[in-house]
This record gives sequence, C-alpha cells and structure tokens, in this order.
Amino acid sequence: MLNVEHISKSYGKHLAVDDLSFTVENGEIFGLLGENGAGKTTTFRIIMGLLAANSGKVTLNGKPIDYSVTNEIGFVTEERSLLSKLTVKEQLLFYGILKGLEEEEILKRMDIWLEKFQISEYKNRKIKELSKGNQQKIQFISAVLHEPKLLILDEPFTGLDPINVKMMKDAIYELKEKGCSIIFSSHQMEHIEQFCEKLVILVKGKSILSGYVTEVKKAYQKMNIRLRGDIDIEKVKKVSGVLSVSHLVDGYLIQIENESVADLVFRTVKNSKVLTFDLQEPTLNEIFIEKVGGLHVS
Ligand code: ATP
Repeated sequence: MLNVEHISKSYGKHLAVDDLSFTVENGEIFGLLGENGAGKTTTFRIIMGLLAANSGKVTLNGKPIDYSVTNEIGFVTEERSLLSKLTVKEQLLFYGILKGLEEEEILKRMDIWLEKFQISEYKNRKIKELSKGNQQKIQFISAVLHEPKLLILDEPFTGLDPINVKMMKDAIYELKEKGCSIIFSSHQMEHIEQFCEKLVILVKGKSILSGYVTEVKKAYQKMNIRLRGDIDIEKVKKVSGVLSVSHLVDGYLIQIENESVADLVFRTVKNSKVLTFDLQEPTLNEIFIEKVGGLHVS
C-alpha cells in the first residue's frame, strides 16, 4: 500500500503541493487529476524520492521510499526518457539489468510484452525509428519488466490512438489483478472516470475532491435523465426538483436534485410518447465544474 501523508512542496514562494494525503491499496488503480501546473508531476517526484517534500511523508508497504524500495517501483515520466540510439532489445536489457533482473529472464519477459503490444517486429529496430505511440509502449514495458509493486504513470495515454489506449489499459488491468498498486495522472476526465476506483482532484496543489469514484458520485446526489420522445418539456421544467433542462440533438438532458425526482418526472411524461427514459449518474466533469466553478478540465 502506498501512503501519502500531508505532503507539501514549495518552489521558492510558490506552493506547488499543499498538504496532500491519499492512500493507494495493493491492486488499486488511483487517478490524480488536475490541470497543467496543478502539482501532479511534483507529487510523483516526491513519491519516487526524486524530490524532497518540505513536510509530510510517503511510505510503500510501511517503509519510507529510498534505495531499498526503488526496485519495487516502476514509472513512466511525462518527459519520455528512452535512449533513442539503442534498439528496443538493447533498451529493455539496459532497464532490466538496472532493476536487477537476469538477462535470460529479461529476454523472456520482453518477448511476452512485445507480443502483447503487437510490436515484436520492432525488437531489433532503433528506438528513434519507432512511431511515438510505439515508443510509448516501450517506455511502458521498461517500467513494468521487473514487475513492480507500485506503478506510477504520468499522463500515460497522451498521444495514443484509441486502439493503443485500450491495449495499454488492458495491460494496466492485468497488473492490477496481480496486486500492483497503480497511480496515474491525467487531465482527461474520461480516463479517470472509466478507469479508476479512487481519485484526487488537484487544483493549485490542493485536493478539492477525493475518494472512491462511486462514493464521490453518490455524495453529489444530483442525477441526469436522458429523455427522448414527443414530450411537453415545459411541464417537465415545472416539476419540483428539476434543476435544468438542456436540449440535445435527439431529446433532452434533465438535471434533477436527487434520484427520487426521477419518479416525479416519469409520472409527468408517462402518458406522452416516450422513446427513451434513461436515468444516469452525474459525470465527474459535472461534479468538477460545480466544485471548481466553471474551470473545465478535459
Ligand atoms: P502538467 O500537467 O503541465 O505536467 P503538473 O500538474 O504536473 O502540470 P507540476 O509540474 O507539478 O504540475 O507543477 C506544479 C507547479 O509548480 C507549477 O506552477 C509549476 O510551474 C511549478 N514548478 C514545477 N517544477 C518547478 C521547478 N523546478 N521550479 C519552480 N517551479 C516549478
């Protein structure tokens, strides 16, 4: 388990991380969400022991993070750090040996990963000859070859097409299943929404929302109804507990105060020709916008 307790970090007078705490259990996927400059990379550097916090502490399975646990951590930094003149094979051997693996074991694991990411044919090609997406896959493999207990991914999906995003998400799920704690940053809400069990939203270094995604949504209470059909929408607007009605291309999106209002809306429209009545959870984006006041992260 990763335990981050009350960490703060200033660069001169600028407070980049402000009293941040969270835990990531074994086998849990945790999302750190925030705009550019929110403090995500600084937080990661502190967790990896590359930067000293001004206060607070970080432990992995009860131990402070120092050289004795570095082999238990894998990370993909935002500024990708591949040795571009090496071949894929040389690169992975280099990282694997740094992490204390035997050559034979590295070659075995390398083949499995290259196959999984459908890039076996590039094994003897130089890194600089690979596309950006394929370089990113190599970066990922370098970070997981030694089967870390904690995997830190700074913006892992940036620049990947949807097929490769899915491939990487599947690989991350597999590591989760094996008990690896995974923490990743993103400024894209939908990745966090679909992928994480737990999250922290950082604004100017401070956590403004944290916890299990399902609980964050439940606590928010407001929900949405997607409604299609031949409906007198003015009547719906007057239902007590209806907060707003937006027009969609093929119907309406109705925001309601809480789940019980859905029943009142349904009774109002049930004698009309209703094609779809779909009660939906709030999106993280909606919650974020309300909490941060119009500041949009996507
Ligand atoms: P991005 O999504 O753009 O990578 P981030 O959330 O990772 O942003 P950080 O890189 O942690 O944010 O930066 C947090 C704040 O600290 C920013 O205001 C940044 O300008 C500042 N900062 C980061 N590194 C330094 C540094 N070495 N010296 C001074 N200020 C810094």
